[in-house]
Amino acid sequence: MQEAIIIGAGPCGLSTAIELKKAGIEPLVLEKGCAVNSIYHYPLSMTFFSTPDKIEIGGIPFISSKERPSREEALKYFRTLAHLFQIPIHTHEEVIDIQQTPDGFRITSENRQGKQIYETRNVILATGYYDNPNLLQVSGEELPHVHHYFKDAHPYAHQKAVVIGGRNSAIDTALELSLAGTDVTMVYRKDAFPSSVKAWVLPQIEAAIEHGRVKMVWEAQIQEITPHEVIVDAKGQQISIPADVVFAMIGYHPNLSLLEKLGVKVDSERYVPILSDSMETSISGTYLAGVVATGFDSTKIFIENGRYHGRKIAEDLIRKRST
Ligand SMILES: Cc1cc2nc3c(=O)[nH]c(=O)nc-3n(C[C@H](O)[C@H](O)[C@H](O)COP(=O)(O)OP(=O)(O)OC[C@H]3O[C@@H](n4cnc5c(N)ncnc54)[C@H](O)[C@@H]3O)c2cc1C
Repeated sequence: MQEAIIIGAGPCGLSTAIELKKAGIEPLVLEKGCAVNSIYHYPLSMTFFSTPDKIEIGGIPFISSKERPSREEALKYFRTLAHLFQIPIHTHEEVIDIQQTPDGFRITSENRQGKQIYETRNVILATGYYDNPNLLQVSGEELPHVHHYFKDAHPYAHQKAVVIGGRNSAIDTALELSLAGTDVTMVYRKDAFPSSVKAWVLPQIEAAIEHGRVKMVWEAQIQEITPHEVIVDAKGQQISIPADVVFAMIGYHPNLSLLEKLGVKVDSERYVPILSDSMETSISGTYLAGVVATGFDSTKIFIENGRYHGRKIAEDLIRKRST
């Protein structure tokens, strides 16, 4: 019987594993992809908006060659930490079910060898949100040239791209495509960029729009995507935008279904479970760590504050040991 199983080896899952280890609890981490799988899948040339000190974990300094670290540096830092603290991670093993037992929980996962079963007294969900893109829910969204993730601009040079959204991911995508020589049109439902846009990126996208390197369609709702165009309603007028490729960069949301099946209470509007100060849900022995606790509003939790969840959980597990 394990004392604690952590589902997800992102920065916040790893931070939780380190805090548990420091408290004398040996965790097991189950990870469906590689360590820090979400960061691995980020755009190749992405730069974190946080300075390295804001996303370091386990008290180990994150040294970056620039003011803000790159994806490459983050991958190196987090995998080094997992090694340094000897965190037991089963990578490429996806958790598919959690059942309550008289002593705790039975976790079922799946890897290349087939189904695996574990018994644990506590389970910590640190599954993030990046696997679940928000959908436009319009006809044509399922077409093969429509993407919810952006990796690299090179394949789209000299093509026509429509980027949907107006937050950081959409702006980064539009700017990178335009630098690669893509003909880019951005479509956003609001009449201005939100205040959460990175301060140093806002002037870049404003200049790109002003000089026509990125065409901007404000206050527009997507009506339909066809193999060659995106049809939008812009301020009541229907327009057709030619598109070889479409990036629908409209955010991501957590998936709490593993815990909901156990009966964990979730606020349906915000998609946030009722949590104690120790990040424990309404079912004793189940905890959330990291951005999985952010609900539909992804601006509430990120690595900068999600990295502290693990310590609260470790303190709670130690407190329970002594009662
Ligand atoms: C482009 C981009 C830039 C960002 N920049 C910053 C920044 O500068 N600063 C900042 O603080 N935040 C930033 N964020 C937010 C932050 O990076 C992420 O939200 C961060 O990865 C959250 O860490 P996490 O451990 O909570 O979740 P994740 O890193 O998403 O980790 C969750 C892990 O759980 C695994 N998993 C999911 N389901 C299962 C399952 N069923 N079984 C097993 N494993 C599972 C996933 O594979 C993943 O590895 C950024 C986000 C994006 C998208």
